[in-house]
Amino acid sequence: MNRNYQKELDELISQLEGQKIRPSLYLHSCCAPCSSYVLFYLSKYFDITLFYYNPNIMPKAEYEKRLAEQHRLLEEAYSSIKFVEGEYEQDKFLEMSKNLASEPEGGRRCHKCYELRLGETAKRAKEGGFDYFASTLSISPHKNATILNEIGDHYGQEYGIKHLPSDFKKKEGYKMSIALSKKYDLYRQTYCGCLLNNVVE
Ligand code: SF4
Repeated sequence: MNRNYQKELDELISQLEGQKIRPSLYLHSCCAPCSSYVLFYLSKYFDITLFYYNPNIMPKAEYEKRLAEQHRLLEEAYSSIKFVEGEYEQDKFLEMSKNLASEPEGGRRCHKCYELRLGETAKRAKEGGFDYFASTLSISPHKNATILNEIGDHYGQEYGIKHLPSDFKKKEGYKMSIALSKKYDLYRQTYCGCLLNNVVE
């Protein structure tokens, strides 16, 4: 049976509200535009630390440009959100994507790329004593929420930390991210991140 991740998140949030609990959340961010809506949505219910870990972004100048936009968004709209930058371990990404350069977007290379980023997020969330971890990635219409949630659940079990179910593109989430990007005049990149086969977002 197909899971409805948005419904699962709605139910969880309503339980937390009923119990007057505001958990901590270690939230992986792929970029400022995607995080704009997810922060708008989740910061009402969670104490969020945003984790920018994207060794898949090429070249380094593009990584820095997206990172600067992430900082700007936080300063202008979410100044109470804590921020952590991960390592720019491009060797790790290139090693992981070896022999997968010709894969289409959404294929095996992308699944490995999600594993790399979600695995690191889960590990750090556990080390930091957070209640939950999640990623903004499911907001993209190009990214399969089932695969992302299965990977998140897997690392949640491996590291012993709760994975927050998500499909942020639902409930007009993707549209909202575009509206918020306009509002804050955010740089919206024209490709996903790696340049292995010039995948356009
Ligand atoms: S297309 Fe995007 S998700 Fe896929 S491997 Fe490249 S950077 Fe990662």
